[in-house]
Amino acid sequence: MEDNKMKAMIDQAEQDLLHTYNRYQIVLDRGDGMYLYDINGKKYLDFMSGIAVFALGYGNKAYNDALKAQIDKILHTSNYFYNEPAITAAARLKKVSGMDRVFFTNSGAEAVEGALKSAMKHAFLKDGGRSHQVIAMENSFHGRTYGALSVTGNPHYREAFGQMPCDVQFARLNDLDSVKALYNDKTCAVIVEPVQGEGGLLPASEDFLKGLRAFCDEKGILLIFDEIQCGMGRTGSMFAWHRFGIRPDIMTCAKALGCGVPVGAFLMTEEVGQSSLVAGDHGTTYGGNPFACAAINAVLDQYEALDLVHHVTETAPYLTQTLDRLASQYSCITEHRGVGFMQGLVFDRPVGPIIRDAMDKGLILINAGANIIRFVPALVTEKEHIDEMAEILGAAIAGNLAE
Ligand SMILES: *Cc1c(COP(=O)(O)O)cnc(C)c1O
Repeated sequence: MEDNKMKAMIDQAEQDLLHTYNRYQIVLDRGDGMYLYDINGKKYLDFMSGIAVFALGYGNKAYNDALKAQIDKILHTSNYFYNEPAITAAARLKKVSGMDRVFFTNSGAEAVEGALKSAMKHAFLKDGGRSHQVIAMENSFHGRTYGALSVTGNPHYREAFGQMPCDVQFARLNDLDSVKALYNDKTCAVIVEPVQGEGGLLPASEDFLKGLRAFCDEKGILLIFDEIQCGMGRTGSMFAWHRFGIRPDIMTCAKALGCGVPVGAFLMTEEVGQSSLVAGDHGTTYGGNPFACAAINAVLDQYEALDLVHHVTETAPYLTQTLDRLASQYSCITEHRGVGFMQGLVFDRPVGPIIRDAMDKGLILINAGANIIRFVPALVTEKEHIDEMAEILGAAIAGNLAE
C-alpha cells in the first residue's frame, strides 16, 4: 500500500520532470540530525548530506529559527539597496576566508561564472586583449552552466553543447609541468579544486598548489580555487587552501555555505577587486538577498557554536581508519583516498549495485564516477555514525561479492 503511494509519486515525477537525473527510487520527506526519512517513514543514515551541503545535519534548531525570523522580517530587497544580513555575511565571510571582497550568488556554478568573468576582466584591463585563455584541470568539476562547463575537465559533459564561451586548456592535477607547458601570452588564470570532488576525491598536493601560486605570481596571472565542495571546513580547515599557507586571487564557495538555502559566493583579493568587475559588469536578482544571507550568518554562527572545523579534525581520522579497514577487508576496493570528511573508496567494479543495496539497508551514499563511493557526511558526524555506516556498507559489499 505504502510502496504503491511512493511508486505513484515517482511515476508522476517521471512524467513531469525533465529526465536529467537517474534518481534513486525514494521520495524523501524529512530529516533529523544525521538521518533522513522517506514518505513511508523508513529511516536512512545519510553520508551524502545533499552532496556536501548539510554540514550542520538536518533540523538544527538555531539555524531553522534564524531563517524563520528572517522570513517574518523580509525575504528580498534587490541589490539596489543594502541589507543588514548581507553586510554582516560579507564581513564574516571575509574574516573566515582571508579574502577581501565578496560577491554573493545563488549557486556554485554561478560563483564560478563570476570568478571567470573577474579573471577575464582583470586581464582585459591589463593588456586590452579580448581572447584570453584559462588553464583548468582534467577531471575537474566546476558546474553545468556554459562558463563553468568550459572549465570542467570531463569532455563527455561538454561534447553535445557546441562552442564553449571560454577558451580553456586542460592540464593534469598535481603535474605542474603540464600547467607550465600550456602557458602562453593569452593565459589569464588557472582554476583548480584544492580537492577534486566529482572527479574522484583527489586532493591537490601541497607542492602542486604552492607551485601553482609561485608560477601564477611569476607570470602575473590569477589563481582561482574552487572551494565549493572542499571548503567550509570539510577537509579540516575552513577552506582547504588554508592548510598550505598560500592564498588564491579568487575563490568560489557554495554548497555548505547555505546548508540547504541555495547560496554561493565568489571572493577575491583587494588587488583583483580594484581591477576587475565594476558597476554594470555583473549582477544577480536574488544573489545576496536578506534571506540567503541570514542563512549564511546562521551557518557561520553554528560553525562557531559547535566548533565544527575542530570537530572535523577530531573525528575525520576515525573515518579514515574505518575506510582503511574496509579497504583491507575487501579486495574489490582498490584504493582509499581523500581528506577530512571528503573521502572515497575506489572499487574494481561499478558501485551502483552496492549503493542501492546500502540504501535498502538504510544508508544513503553517493558515487563519484562509476567506480567510486564518495563519503561527504555532515560535519556533525560522530564516531557512532561512522560505525553504523561501516556496518551497513560492509554488509552491502559482502552481499554484492556473494552474487
Ligand atoms: C557542486 C560543485 C559546483 C557547482 O555547484 P552548483 O551549486 O551545483 O552549481 C562547482 N564546483 C564544485 C567543485 C562543485 O563541487
